Amino acid sequence: MSDRTIPPEQVMASLFRGLGRREQMALMSKLEIAGGAVYRALAAGESNALAREKLLKAAEDEERNGGLLKLMTTPKDKCERCDAALADSAAGHACSFQCTFCEPCAASMNHVCPNCSGTLSPRAAA
Ligand SMILES: [Zn+2]
Ligand SMILES: [Zn+2]
Repeated sequence: MSDRTIPPEQVMASLFRGLGRREQMALMSKLEIAGGAVYRALAAGESNALAREKLLKAAEDEERNGGLLKLMTTPKDKCERCDAALADSAAGHACSFQCTFCEPCAASMNHVCPNCSGTLSPRAAA
């Protein structure tokens, strides 16, 4: 494979090119979680205790970042307030963290998320 001649940062940029914001977040989530596994493998091969500790901390950071993006890109299928089913991913309103509410609940809260104070916007079809 001649891919080896392409700088890794260019390969990474090419992965994101042309993707929508949601798709970029979902991809970054996977890369960060994979990055966490790389840090863990590096930590396992590190003999310096402090360096090993730092590498494990870096793994946790990657996993946390990946988890945040996963949360922000995983649609919910019911209203958080009244449990109404929202099987259609375009139904209801959600904030940036995917706190999700049915239309009547969102309207009754003036479209402000009770968890994060963010705006509850109509969900777009995935
Ligand atoms: Zn509701
Ligand atoms: Zn929220």
